[in-house]
Amino acid sequence: MDQSLPTYPKARKDHRCFGCGETIPKGSRYALNAVFDNGEAYSIKLCAKCVYAKTRLDSGDDGYGEGELKEDHQYLPDDYSFMLARLAEEYDARMKRIREERKESECLS
Ligand SMILES: [Zn+2]
Repeated sequence: MDQSLPTYPKARKDHRCFGCGETIPKGSRYALNAVFDNGEAYSIKLCAKCVYAKTRLDSGDDGYGEGELKEDHQYLPDDYSFMLARLAEEYDARMKRIREERKESECLS
């Protein structure tokens, strides 16, 4: 399973989390992974809880099946949502830098 770098968009409608099956409500941030598997491309959406579970509790890059992160939710700390917030912030900063660099190179050419 090949995964591209995740992006962290804001949900424009309700989504279902791949990891736990819970609803990702419209307007909230979530992690979006594009996956390429045996020539097939699909996207995996994860809620804030599963992002934490995957980042902190998962032992590594082992794959996880649909709904399999749900059982890890019982180990979540109260402040689990900072993980997704921090990743989303880093993502925003990276995107901003890329946009600025692009603008600069356009000015130079
Ligand atoms: Zn989830």
